[in-house]
Amino acid sequence: MNNPSQQTPPAPPPRVSLVGAGPGAPDLITVRGLKRLREAEIVIYDSLAGEELLAECASGAELIFAGKRSGAHGARQEEINALLVEKARTGRRVVRLKGGDPFIFGRGGEEVLALAAAGIACEIIPGVTAAIAAGAAAQIPLTHRALASGVLFLTGHESLKPGDAAARVHWECAAALPGITLCIYMGVKNLPVIAGRLLAGGMPAETPLAVISNATLPGETMLYASVGEAASGKINEAVETPALVLVGSVVPGGPARHHPRF
Ligand code: SAH
Repeated sequence: MNNPSQQTPPAPPPRVSLVGAGPGAPDLITVRGLKRLREAEIVIYDSLAGEELLAECASGAELIFAGKRSGAHGARQEEINALLVEKARTGRRVVRLKGGDPFIFGRGGEEVLALAAAGIACEIIPGVTAAIAAGAAAQIPLTHRALASGVLFLTGHESLKPGDAAARVHWECAAALPGITLCIYMGVKNLPVIAGRLLAGGMPAETPLAVISNATLPGETMLYASVGEAASGKINEAVETPALVLVGSVVPGGPARHHPRF
């Protein structure tokens, strides 16, 4: 018989949490993420993980900075993995605080695997990823009943040389998907090449594109252009990073009659 008074209490949360900090504004972390942050004894954080949030940590918490913005190369990531495992082994409550969502271009997958290889369980607390925040900031719905039936999250940071093993994003294929909003992370530097490849894949040059910089942060800006203009190389020089590029009919400039600006 299930007597509630005899039930075992719920298991305590794991001692290691990968927490999505959200896109920048400190109040866009989840309630659960904030709770873990306040309880943490060790916090390993990235620069995109809203440093204001660190004010929420307990006064005795050990705060460890683990990355510059565009830095996380292979060796550096291995060092972070090793640090995470080392700190987790202390048995203290560890939060790995990452910008946006830990599993969207956040290398959270690698950190979970490193912990698992060391026999350490962890939990993942999702965060508002930059594409969602950028859409909200610019009042661009990433899906729309009449204009976009899906969304692609893509990195613009991989090699762009066709045939290169590290060049996995097939931009020409992405161009050929009507009614799909493209959300391009880390795409500012390579934007002219990316836009050129979208055109090569048959995307009309007048397809609207928005670059949202510092979404939810002070200094938030939106820049609107067409894919043709982006291919010319003038757009990316004008924007600050971090920035998210949105491409498709939901972006104002195209048939985006739903947009409050129209
Ligand atoms: N895990 C993060 C993404 C890390 S990759 C997430 O889920 O959001 C870093 C890229 O995210 C940046 O190059 C930029 O393209 C995007 N980004 C992060 N914060 C942003 C912000 N506040 N505004 C616009 N783009 C942002």
